[in-house]
Amino acid sequence: MHEEAGRLLRVLLNVPDDYSILFLQGGASLQFYMVPLNLLGEGQTASYVLTGSWSEKALEEAAKVGQIKIAASTEEERFRRIPHQEELAISGDEAYVHITSNNTIFGTQWQQFPDTKGAPLVADMSSDILSRPFDVSQFGLIYAGAQKNLGPSGVTVVIIRSDLLERSQEGLPVMLSYATHARSRSLYNTPPTFAIYLLGKVLGWVERQGGVAKIAAQNELKAKILYDAVDQSGGFYKGHAEPDSRSRMNVTFTLPSAELEKEFLAAAKEAGFVGLAGHRSVGGCRASIYNAVSVEACEALRDFMIAFKAKR
Ligand SMILES: *Cc1c(COP(=O)(O)O)cnc(C)c1O
Repeated sequence: MHEEAGRLLRVLLNVPDDYSILFLQGGASLQFYMVPLNLLGEGQTASYVLTGSWSEKALEEAAKVGQIKIAASTEEERFRRIPHQEELAISGDEAYVHITSNNTIFGTQWQQFPDTKGAPLVADMSSDILSRPFDVSQFGLIYAGAQKNLGPSGVTVVIIRSDLLERSQEGLPVMLSYATHARSRSLYNTPPTFAIYLLGKVLGWVERQGGVAKIAAQNELKAKILYDAVDQSGGFYKGHAEPDSRSRMNVTFTLPSAELEKEFLAAAKEAGFVGLAGHRSVGGCRASIYNAVSVEACEALRDFMIAFKAKR
């Protein structure tokens, strides 16, 4: 079962042979610390692209381990967009460059991954892994807490290029070393068996849907349904993210006033739509439409949005 989950993930994401797939614990949040602990050596610098709260958390943890710098940040624009390649201060001799592929709170997503001029690219893909095809070989390391697109909480997937395993120093706490887990095929200690079992089930479901490309087409359609509802509302609903940075997983939008937002959320809840409130740090509304959400659910929300506006 353990092997089968790893095998399926390798097939679905087209993971090359020189990458190890690890099943760890501690969530993406532990990876914020494990990545620099393993990859950031003495005298080296790691660079972070700040696109939201998760990347800030990742940076804060890395700062406890070693030297870091910020390659770019869109904080001054309230994280409405992903920076362009020209804005990134990357020399290529960084220990690694870290990005957050999808920003749940602000509703932005990298459409095209950055060129890091040879430095290993590390990505927190917790909220969009398995939502669209991508080229794993562009990355040195990818990590994702399972609970958004992969399965239940309790297991964290790490995909790491073999040469980077050599950076794990001998003296590291054994459980925090990628080398430990790679050597023992993620069976160094008792794994989160039930979470991995369910991960395998979810991967089987993705395979039966026709694979990641099929899921991506579905996600594209789902997002379009909701963004169209926003864009065709005559300004009643306003998207938070700039159009070319829009996330296909989290659709963030506001209404003309806080009062109307409260009314909208209450009426939505009444109609059976739960969890539509935006994150407390930004307010507004957020529709999270991860892989498990159906096209029909997005259509129902669109219809509700149109009807709510018509009543005003
Ligand atoms: C949800 C999320 C996290 C938090 O993950 P945990 O597994 O709860 O630590 C981290 N990063 C991103 C991008 C997320 O979407």
